[in-house]
Amino acid sequence: MAAGCPPATAGESRLSPPHHSSTVPAPVPTLSIVCPMRDEAEALPALASRLIAVLDACVDSFEIVCVNDGSSDDTLSALQAWRSRDPRVRVIDLTRSFGKEAALTCGIDHARGQAVVPIDADLQDPPELIPEMLRLWRSGFEVVLAQRVDRSGDGLLKRSSAAWFYRLHNRLADEPLPANVGDFRLLDRRVVDALKQLPERRRFMKGLFAWVGFRQATIPYSREPRRHGRSKFSGWRLWNFALDGITAFSTAPLRIWTYLGLAVALAAFVYGLVIIALVLVAGRDTPGYASLMTVVLFLGGVQLIGLGVLGEYLGRVHQEVKQRPVYLVRHPDDHAA
Ligand code: UDP
Ligand code: MG
Repeated sequence: MAAGCPPATAGESRLSPPHHSSTVPAPVPTLSIVCPMRDEAEALPALASRLIAVLDACVDSFEIVCVNDGSSDDTLSALQAWRSRDPRVRVIDLTRSFGKEAALTCGIDHARGQAVVPIDADLQDPPELIPEMLRLWRSGFEVVLAQRVDRSGDGLLKRSSAAWFYRLHNRLADEPLPANVGDFRLLDRRVVDALKQLPERRRFMKGLFAWVGFRQATIPYSREPRRHGRSKFSGWRLWNFALDGITAFSTAPLRIWTYLGLAVALAAFVYGLVIIALVLVAGRDTPGYASLMTVVLFLGGVQLIGLGVLGEYLGRVHQEVKQRPVYLVRHPDDHAA
């Protein structure tokens, strides 16, 4: 189906059930691996061989759900070639790039396994942790987190900004994010079904994963550098991603203005009393221009920041009320039930 058709016919959206090419349901695999990919043709051979070697050794049945997030390189044809060699691979092609969170949502929506593990294509999430995740899952944990204890694979700026983000987010949000845990984790089918009930369109997946709760175990690992290509998350994109995370899970930035306003009003009142006292008692004339300018500019700045914060939330409300689907699928995958 062509991209550019109206959403109702262009493919599936998150709100319509996945397309099924036959009426006989395929057997449910034990494990679904979900891999969002954008321009990862170079990374694919190494990913495929490491992943298959690990999975063949640790699980009886599995599927690998690859979501092509509007790649401009050969990712799609490489995925299709992989699928033709291995029927356990499923390829879902989005109509354009919707971003990692949307691609991940799409993969999770389509995954059929009893357990689901999202993984990055660049091998920064080592597939060798999956057997341990499965062991903990079989022992009763519904979520198994992979926590990066060593992030030397990421640059200094990314590490320190991530540390600040987790600190700020966890201070503001109702449900704290476990620090240094990415999307690489195992989710039980019950957790996946709970996630599918969350209707929001701007999807900060790490926050949603934490919000649904369930019984969790953690495995530490050290994060390796990206093998091929470059990270798709530039500084500006990371900043916006952090804003998404905070605004999606906290209204504290909105409420803070009430208290800031009260504090400024109180300070202004006290300052007014001081000026009156100085005039009446010390007989000193009120100094004018410089202090006035400073206060006016300061308050103007503070008000604009407040408006900006309101705008951040209003923009997100605006996007939610439009109720557009999170993603659109061009090709329904061939190996679905
Ligand atoms: N990704 C995606 N769409 C995007 C950006 C990234 O599907 O718009 C995929 C990417 O192909 C990779 C994963 O998300 O499999 C993580 O991306 P990346 O390695 O660039 O992120 P980082 O590890 O730097 O956080
Ligand atoms: Mg990466």
